[in-house]
Amino acid sequence: MLSEETPMMKQYKQIKSEYEDTFLFYRLGDFYELFFDDAIKAAQELEITLTRRGSKNEQHIPMCGVPYHSAEHYISTLIERGFKIAICEQVEDPKTAKGVVKREVVQIITPGTVMEGKSIQEKENNFIAALYPFSGQSAAFVKADLTTGETTGAVLNEDIIEWKREILRSDIKELVVPSFFEGEDLAMSSIVFSEEDDTELQSEFKQLVTGNVDKRLETAFAILTNYFKRTQKRALAHLQPLHVYNPNERMQLDLHSRRNLELTETMMENKKKGSLLWLMDQTVTAMGGRLVKKWIEEPLLNTTDINNRHSLVQSLLDHYFEREELRDRLRHVYDLERLAGKTSYGNVNARELVQLRRSLQELPDLFQLLETLNNSYVEELTERADDFTELRQLLEESLTDDPPISITEGGLIKTGYNAKLDEYKEASRNGKEWISRLEQEEREETGIKSLKVGFNRVFGYYIEVTKANIPFLPEGRYERKQTLTNAERYVTPELKEKESLILGAEEHSTQLEYQLFLEIREKVKSYLYPLQHTARIVSEIDVLQGFSLVSERHQYVRPEFSQEHTLSIQEGRHPVVEQVLDRGDYVANDIDLDSNQQMLLITGPNMAGKSTYMRQIALISIMAQAGCFVPALSANLPVFDQVFTRIGAADDLSSGQSTFMVEMLETRQALSLATPDSLILLDEIGRGTSTYDGMALAQSIVEYIHNEVGAKTLFSTHYHELTSLSNTLDKLKNVHVRAVEENGEIVFLHKVEQGKADRSYGIYVAKLADLPRDVLERAETLLHQFESSNGPVRDTVEKEEHLSSSQVENTIPRSKQKQEEQPEQLALFQPEEQYSHEDNVTK
Ligand code: ADP
Repeated sequence: MLSEETPMMKQYKQIKSEYEDTFLFYRLGDFYELFFDDAIKAAQELEITLTRRGSKNEQHIPMCGVPYHSAEHYISTLIERGFKIAICEQVEDPKTAKGVVKREVVQIITPGTVMEGKSIQEKENNFIAALYPFSGQSAAFVKADLTTGETTGAVLNEDIIEWKREILRSDIKELVVPSFFEGEDLAMSSIVFSEEDDTELQSEFKQLVTGNVDKRLETAFAILTNYFKRTQKRALAHLQPLHVYNPNERMQLDLHSRRNLELTETMMENKKKGSLLWLMDQTVTAMGGRLVKKWIEEPLLNTTDINNRHSLVQSLLDHYFEREELRDRLRHVYDLERLAGKTSYGNVNARELVQLRRSLQELPDLFQLLETLNNSYVEELTERADDFTELRQLLEESLTDDPPISITEGGLIKTGYNAKLDEYKEASRNGKEWISRLEQEEREETGIKSLKVGFNRVFGYYIEVTKANIPFLPEGRYERKQTLTNAERYVTPELKEKESLILGAEEHSTQLEYQLFLEIREKVKSYLYPLQHTARIVSEIDVLQGFSLVSERHQYVRPEFSQEHTLSIQEGRHPVVEQVLDRGDYVANDIDLDSNQQMLLITGPNMAGKSTYMRQIALISIMAQAGCFVPALSANLPVFDQVFTRIGAADDLSSGQSTFMVEMLETRQALSLATPDSLILLDEIGRGTSTYDGMALAQSIVEYIHNEVGAKTLFSTHYHELTSLSNTLDKLKNVHVRAVEENGEIVFLHKVEQGKADRSYGIYVAKLADLPRDVLERAETLLHQFESSNGPVRDTVEKEEHLSSSQVENTIPRSKQKQEEQPEQLALFQPEEQYSHEDNVTK
């Protein structure tokens, strides 16, 4: 078989052998074709028809193809599923080629390097990163977005858990690591291994790692940029200088906290709607949309920086009309970052440059408007902003208002921009006018009324005369060109001359337009750096006008920061829950921990609002440190360096570990990493195990945090026994979320009050959940027994204890678990003495 292989198949196999791990899109005329296993797999993934290659020798070759003009869609689909694609183009003109047309792979598209298509979301970055470990000490981590050109890097400590944390936090699509890393679990599915000698930074990127950038970062930057070169095969002029960050400069939020606090997406549906980002993102530009996400994920620690943001939010609140105008103007600013990226890539079209022009036209007024705010931070921000007068003029003078997407078919350049081009256009127009007069003139001259002048692609311009009228044509001048059934088509020497003039002029003019466009594009390219700089300014202003808008709309207040570890919020609200409820239904709550108070032990019935209260405190802190105002009447906050949460368990099932184990792992993380500047939220710790076991753990965790860690901590529990800890732990304070009984029904007041709860109301919640009446009645009876015997009925409890949490989880669907837990709650219930205020005076 092999000997009979066609030259084309030989070429295909040769190229494919260099790109084993990709789908090779092999250009054949108007199609990209895939062969062999590629074809079989792609046909499945893309749901397209699998065929066989037609020629006799190749009947055995599976094949499928996608049209060139709609390839984008198929490429995006494969990329989204994590595949890579090598685009193999014909690199010589098939008409002049001898033998097989020369082909080359011109680009490899991967999940982390895709530049356009549906995988690129307007308001999201497309990050790729490189991680380079240095034996036994640290790792360099460098991250980039090829569509915007931004690059950042950090040196991480030696702990691989730390690396994974950074990888997970960074939301990357692809990770490049050195090949000796094979086999390590890095919490990423899309990993590529760099080649041996890839640690050498290419000269063109040297200027991006100037100053005192750590040598280790240079190595990671080298493997990343070398990967870009290998896959993109073109200049990458838009890559921005490496911005070195220290992970400890930002509030640390582990993945669980981010998910649990629903910062950028909801826990159940993974949707933006319903998340904090959804609420806080009132940006109007794509760039702002990407930045606000980053700010929410990485709140600041430096109070000067935080105050800068707050001051601008305040100024924009004070200038309502200016803010409205600002929003209107920002709406006309397109994605400068990505336009700059595309320009550098050489695939920006005229339509996009018109978008750039529109954006630049907006800038002078926009900056002037910002001046009227009289805000020193905005002055600092816009100080070195370009006004792009020259570039704007160039684009205004050169580009038509509504150019086509294609840059090779003319229609791009305005009259008056280039004399030669105008000449061609004039010539073509004159020629066409001459021809449009020709029909009338020829009719008069020959007396043939039905004479027509026409044009077709093959024969060009012609004069058509019906067979019957041929004898009336004068001799000599008319040269026969084409015979139809009823007519003959002729040309004359003048017509031929005009035709070549028109066609020549048109061809010259589209060619010249293309040429001029490339020149303009080059010119734009020289503005990459100022464009990116302006993009950063505009996106920051956009985020802050959005913060100002939400702050106004929902009546937020500017938070203050104290150095004294005071955490004091008056009438705080959960920003998202309050939006979901009807207006006014949300019950605002205070928190008041001074520098000597550190922990809140929160009791109260299920469904009372304990975890909402805990989340609300974390969210207020995150919003404040991200630069926004907060849902409260007043807020005096510490700057938290980290937030740890252990709330709920809805997302643990997929991990394969028992909920209790996950709970303990996360608690460990909080206990070992938290500092006195951290915030810890622990919700019902210990409920995943048996009563005394759980209670013992909960108590020792409280004591440890209190005595050793010193972090501000909110600890909710249904172990009412723990409330007596306030007698021995002087930095701990009891609060409870109040519920009252009315006519045998429980009414949740959602109000957090001083002191401990008087009882747990488990049965009432069980009632709400519609448990069978028999169960409820039996529970009531048992409860009375417990209360009178002052303790649980022994044998019942024993039984409960032997049913470990993992057994429960494995047999009961998650949705039912809350209900199933109620009997356990009931068994746990210990009668309390009626709560009295004196018990709970804070110490
Ligand atoms: P718990 O953690 O005590 O079981 P949650 O915090 O889950 O209770 O709250 C239960 C429900 O009560 C929430 O879904 C929310 O709708 C409502 N809720 C909680 N806090 C408040 C509040 N402060 N004002 C109004 N409704 C609230």
